[in-house]
Amino acid sequence: MWRSRVVVGLLAVVGLSLGSVGSAGARPAGLPPVVSHVPTSDKVVFITIDDGWYHDPEVARTLVEGRVPASLFLLPGAFSYDAGYFTGLVDEGRVRVENHTVNHPDLTALDAAGKDAELCGAEERVAAAFGRSPKLVRPPYGAYDDAVRLAAKACGAKALVTWTYDFTTWGDTPPATPALRSGDIVLLHFTPGLGADLRRALDAARAAGLKPAALMPYLRSSGVLSSGALPARASGALTS
Ligand SMILES: [Zn+2]
Repeated sequence: MWRSRVVVGLLAVVGLSLGSVGSAGARPAGLPPVVSHVPTSDKVVFITIDDGWYHDPEVARTLVEGRVPASLFLLPGAFSYDAGYFTGLVDEGRVRVENHTVNHPDLTALDAAGKDAELCGAEERVAAAFGRSPKLVRPPYGAYDDAVRLAAKACGAKALVTWTYDFTTWGDTPPATPALRSGDIVLLHFTPGLGADLRRALDAARAAGLKPAALMPYLRSSGVLSSGALPARASGALTS
């Protein structure tokens, strides 16, 4: 009898902590939120740029001279052979490098050790190259489940970030440009077309009266990161 109560209690705790996958704001305790849009009425959008394979100097100038805040979800293989391109952006611009795994797998298809190797491995490589541990994870393909969220948390993630709109041009024709709204998260990629895609995104933001803003402070101030998710002393440090 005693033993069965303990088992039932344990199951209840596991059920609470795993729960169902939800959007930011409604989430089971213990898991980092998954954010595709930031709940804010401020006139801001969030620029995110993924992978990092193509290093266009013109894009770097746009980001640095325009003081454009952006989250870069980079693969170690894409910055290791030309880290200077990105350290220049970090040092001179308003970008932060975040976690996009080591090898860009579908994390939901990996076992626990595989998830850990991809997420903690990338965390360590980003920290070593840029002097700051990433706080955000973008799961490749936007594929996640509760086990991925737990693994991300164990590797330092405060949130998983997907996107509201993908502005990337993969073929000859750009995707339709949506009307952006406050709190939207724009996805771009370091492709040869990034210069044009970034201009299109910045123009769409301007047309909607929105300015690019840094993601982490807004995740904190909008309540997406619960008060318990971050130690109080980190509030200043995490502007980095
Ligand atoms: Zn990617």
